[in-house]
Amino acid sequence: MTDQSTTDESERGHAEAAFAVDDDAERCPYCGRPFASEHLHALHLGEEHPDALTEAEAERYAAADDRESDELFKFHIKVLAVLTLIAFVFLYSYTFVWT
Ligand SMILES: [Zn+2]
Repeated sequence: MTDQSTTDESERGHAEAAFAVDDDAERCPYCGRPFASEHLHALHLGEEHPDALTEAEAERYAAADDRESDELFKFHIKVLAVLTLIAFVFLYSYTFVWT
């Protein structure tokens, strides 16, 4: 019983944390949406308000978009490595265990 109430309390705490917004969080000047980082703010401006961008905002968006592409590429490489590892584990276990 005590475990259950502890779980409920920690879940409630997590939900509150998920919606807590810092008062001094950076906000979009066009729609007021708050952002946790400058990177996310720059991406939002480029994706949601492309016609309203200033030159500096457009440069920040291009840099953020580049960084996003690089991070996505690294993520795809890691996924590929994990899938290859899983395939080899099945191949070896089939070769040495099941036959
Ligand atoms: Zn916005």
